[in-house]
Amino acid sequence: MRQERWPRPAVTRVLTVANQKGGVGKTTSAVNIAAAMALHGLRVLLIDLDPQGNASTALGVPHGVGTPSAYDVLLAGHTIDSVATAVELADTLRCVPATLDLAGADIELTSQVAREYRLQRAVGVLLSEERTYDYIFIDCPPSLGLLTLNALVAAREVLIPIQCEYYALEGLAQLMNTVDLVRAHLNPDLAVTTVLLTMYDSRTRLADQVADEVRKYFGELVLGPVIPRNVRVSEAPGFGQTVITYDPGSRGAVGYVEAAREIAERGAAPASAQEKEESDT
Ligand code: ADP
Ligand code: MG
Repeated sequence: MRQERWPRPAVTRVLTVANQKGGVGKTTSAVNIAAAMALHGLRVLLIDLDPQGNASTALGVPHGVGTPSAYDVLLAGHTIDSVATAVELADTLRCVPATLDLAGADIELTSQVAREYRLQRAVGVLLSEERTYDYIFIDCPPSLGLLTLNALVAAREVLIPIQCEYYALEGLAQLMNTVDLVRAHLNPDLAVTTVLLTMYDSRTRLADQVADEVRKYFGELVLGPVIPRNVRVSEAPGFGQTVITYDPGSRGAVGYVEAAREIAERGAAPASAQEKEESDT
């Protein structure tokens, strides 16, 4: 499935996919955007930081208890390199799996030194070396605990998936407030850069109302492409697949490819830098 190549960013972009609400499409978005990018020649790492390990499942990556994982990075000082595993989908895609061990991490971290900085330190190693990745995505659990905090401190950007449903905006103030606090006290570089509308159902007026409201609130940060509600999207993880590989022609797959393309294009390095990179490699 070799495809056209998308532009690379000037430096590695680290995006945390966050929304403390469950079931809004965090994991689905992280997995499918990462996959779409990797299939278009970008080097991508997905860090699964949800004890449920749904992102690991969707990428077909083993994540039984005992598998080297995000837990070992946060609590045992392992490097990301030592726990990141290959993903069959593309040789430019790797995944740090999440195991159930991570369920205790929120509490175990509480008593640790520099508990909010564990992931930042590990990700920092990847950023200072010869560039290994163009994009690093971090999939968060549905809470604003220490795992999500670690993700927000490790990233420069926040990607917020918003489900086109009742109460979509409820709770967002709390997330924005957390982002502000992290920026003020732990990570001055953090910004919400990307908002993605998910599970859009064109048959309902409600979906349009929510989309309008979100665009009014977040303006330019909202990606143009909207992810439709599409059963193929929800079927894919059951086969250890992303929808992009499971059914590339489905509306869900097309939506995610278009959304990923826009993220890549928005973050593209200036043309001169691109040309230099091309001639270097
Ligand atoms: P979160 O990570 O925020 O908890 P998920 O990505 O796991 O949310 O999505 C919640 C559920 O909705 C999952 O069962 C997923 O398969 C399903 N889902 C996500 N996006 C879509 C979509 N566009 N169409 C249909 N089902 C979807
Ligand atoms: Mg999830």
